[in-house]
Amino acid sequence: MNTSTSLLPPSRKPPLTFGQLMIFYIIIASIPFIYSVTQGLENRGIYETILVYLNISVFAALLAQYPLAGRINAVTQVTGLDNGMHLHRKAGEWIAIYFFIHPFLIILPRIWNSPMRWKGDLWDSFIASESSTGVYAWIVMAIWVLMSVYRTKLKISYEAWRISHGIGLVGVAILGTHHAITVGRHGRYEAWFDIMWAVLCTIAVAIVCYTYFVRPALQKKQPFKLVSSKKIADNDWEVTIEKDGDFDFNFDAGQFLWLNTSGNAYDRSEHPFSIASSPTSLPQISFIIRELGDFTSNLDKLKPGQRVYVDGPHGVFTLNGRQASGIALIAGGAGIGPNLGILRQIRDLGESRPVRMVYGNRRMSQMCNQDEIKAIEKDLPDFKQHLALETPEPGVDAHIGYLDKEFLGSLFDEEKRNGWIFYICGPPIMVDAVTEHLRALKVPEKQILFEQLSFD
Ligand SMILES: Cc1cc2nc3c(=O)[nH]c(=O)nc-3n(C[C@H](O)[C@H](O)[C@H](O)COP(=O)(O)OP(=O)(O)OC[C@H]3O[C@@H](n4cnc5c(N)ncnc54)[C@H](O)[C@@H]3O)c2cc1C
Repeated sequence: MNTSTSLLPPSRKPPLTFGQLMIFYIIIASIPFIYSVTQGLENRGIYETILVYLNISVFAALLAQYPLAGRINAVTQVTGLDNGMHLHRKAGEWIAIYFFIHPFLIILPRIWNSPMRWKGDLWDSFIASESSTGVYAWIVMAIWVLMSVYRTKLKISYEAWRISHGIGLVGVAILGTHHAITVGRHGRYEAWFDIMWAVLCTIAVAIVCYTYFVRPALQKKQPFKLVSSKKIADNDWEVTIEKDGDFDFNFDAGQFLWLNTSGNAYDRSEHPFSIASSPTSLPQISFIIRELGDFTSNLDKLKPGQRVYVDGPHGVFTLNGRQASGIALIAGGAGIGPNLGILRQIRDLGESRPVRMVYGNRRMSQMCNQDEIKAIEKDLPDFKQHLALETPEPGVDAHIGYLDKEFLGSLFDEEKRNGWIFYICGPPIMVDAVTEHLRALKVPEKQILFEQLSFD
């Protein structure tokens, strides 16, 4: 038996962890403030200094949201796309809160000095002509946040929300930059400081333009076509696409693509799906897709031969360059997609180290590719699949219940917990729970990799 701990030829460095990324983001957002200090920012007391720090840094953090969420490969390889999206959302909430209280914090000292006049002071600040772009930015932000919070209640489709999100961001960036340059009192001291805001805003807007216009143009040059879309289990479909042209396209098993099946590369209705095939399947690529909403419940309407545009590959849920003495693939529902892709790659590589797949679903009829997985059990020297169902079914050998700590603990003894790598994929609630169980079982953090099937 091969006891080597290397798995595949080493390639990319793993991205930053979420914690590292957050610290990096805070440092980047703080740079303009540090710059303002070097430019002779006036010292007007502790309250004003903190306020100026927050005003400058929060606005810089807003502008830094664009590269963070812009799906630019050079950036996502460092940030990790899911970490970046997660931080984008979390930081976005804090930025929105700060945006709302910003005008009140500005007039707070005046309220303090003359409490009876606060309403008048606030109103005067709002209607002052020099504040107008700040007020417009504030209103756009308010509409944008309300749309995000009440998207489901207002029945706004995900696609419409994404488009408005992009336009809203551009509006807030331009209006906010104008406000920072004309009203932000630091901006009055140094022309270079204004130029910095203008450059950061231009980069942010350029990223949105890249997303909406340049990337689709590039995708048009690398088209794919649909090979098939067929139901393979109770709620799951296997969708296969194929390269339609002579261009280079590579991926690692476990990565994901954004698929656009509208026939128009500029249409923003694209959805992320994990690749369920091994790189050896190229020029074909397959996905396992679970019915959920508008797009995924209409997969029967896809026609073989139709045009498909892809963005990617993205993600670091891969074997690449990772060391481990064994591999655990843990899938919940549609999370089988990338785990099956990795398993297929392991089979193609003739990997001889121990591999375990843990696959949970409500019912047996939701389990995908069982014949193939059983065949791989025979092909690989040390591979076994463990099924988990919510309720018992006659003749099915499965754990009954969730993928809980006891069940996982029974499958992975201390030696495995110390030396194996754990790949977890599924809906966020399942990924969170399994990750917590593995942490409680003392699996080291760096050996836990996960992909949540949602950026929400
Ligand atoms: C990295 C990643 C990999 C994924 N891999 C798979 C997979 O292999 N198999 C699978 O079945 N599902 C996968 N998903 C989930 C899949 O993208 C959604 O189920 C699908 O987009 C839902 O679209 P809908 O129109 O059917 O549903 P809707 O009702 O429109 O959306 C339901 C939810 O899906 C998410 N969603 C919808 N559209 C998008 C979008 N354009 N971008 C991001 N999230 C969106 C949102 O959370 C939304 O609230 C993955 C998601 C992510 C983030």
